[in-house]
Amino acid sequence: MTRIRLVFLGSGSSIPTVERNHPAIYIDYEGDLMLWDCGEGSQRQMMKADLRLMKINHIFVTHWHADHFAGLIGLIETFNLGQRKKPLTVYGPEASRFIDAFSELSYWDFGFEMKAVDVEFEGNETSKLFENRFYKILSVPVKHSVPAVAYCLEEKDRWNIDMKKAKKLGLEEGPILEKLKENGKVKHKGKIVRLKDVASKTKGKKIVYSGDTAPCKNMQNLAKGADLLIHDGTFIEGPEEKEEKMEKRHSNVRKAAEIAKKAGVKKLILTHFSRRYKNVNELVTEARKVFKKTEAAKDLMEVIV
Ligand SMILES: [Zn+2]
Repeated sequence: MTRIRLVFLGSGSSIPTVERNHPAIYIDYEGDLMLWDCGEGSQRQMMKADLRLMKINHIFVTHWHADHFAGLIGLIETFNLGQRKKPLTVYGPEASRFIDAFSELSYWDFGFEMKAVDVEFEGNETSKLFENRFYKILSVPVKHSVPAVAYCLEEKDRWNIDMKKAKKLGLEEGPILEKLKENGKVKHKGKIVRLKDVASKTKGKKIVYSGDTAPCKNMQNLAKGADLLIHDGTFIEGPEEKEEKMEKRHSNVRKAAEIAKKAGVKKLILTHFSRRYKNVNELVTEARKVFKKTEAAKDLMEVIV
């Protein structure tokens, strides 16, 4: 069983508070480290939580509002001063435009290879941004005041070989089993051995993060069946939401909970709380009327999926 570790580096929104930093989520997939958003102060939050920030190789930015990316500038400088040599890939809508701008902001070169991947931010299609043997990272356009996307880590199903059964059919540990896992079957001593005859399947996990968004269908589709949905929960339904036209850019907690329910997720964590809420219990209570398994993010909270 894999263990995917998430740490919320910030659970606030555009203006931070003493308790809530700007948005960023640190993800550790069996030693593969990435960030989803990188608000100002993210690197100090990682230091406080004793996380291995120098080893981050991928940063996925949901949109280029400062509360979601301003931490990148300082983090890049730390990488540079720390003699980083490994490439860093930054994904986001129009990422190359912003990474080019960063390179103009200082007197020195990045000092390591910086790759920018422009993520599709229009339409309804899911895009695959990254894939290795174990998982994929997907994105989908969402509804905000600037180009914005949501991200998903989708783990592949894993086959666990029962060595007793495999040995009975004459298969020994080694490359032949890798081949069996890859192709679903192998020919051994003139006979076809099928993967399902000797192995059981563990379903891959799925984690989805909305970034900033008004409630939208794309989000619901991406979140389908997720083990964990992390969703914009800036407000509680009310007049302020309408006055500030926030309803077009962010989700109230009830609507976030409706998405969780319709998508059939296992758990919802609300985040990106407006600073007007000193205590978010009221927001969680409201969301739980629709979707029981709701929690509120807080800074440096760790979640294992
Ligand atoms: Zn934001």
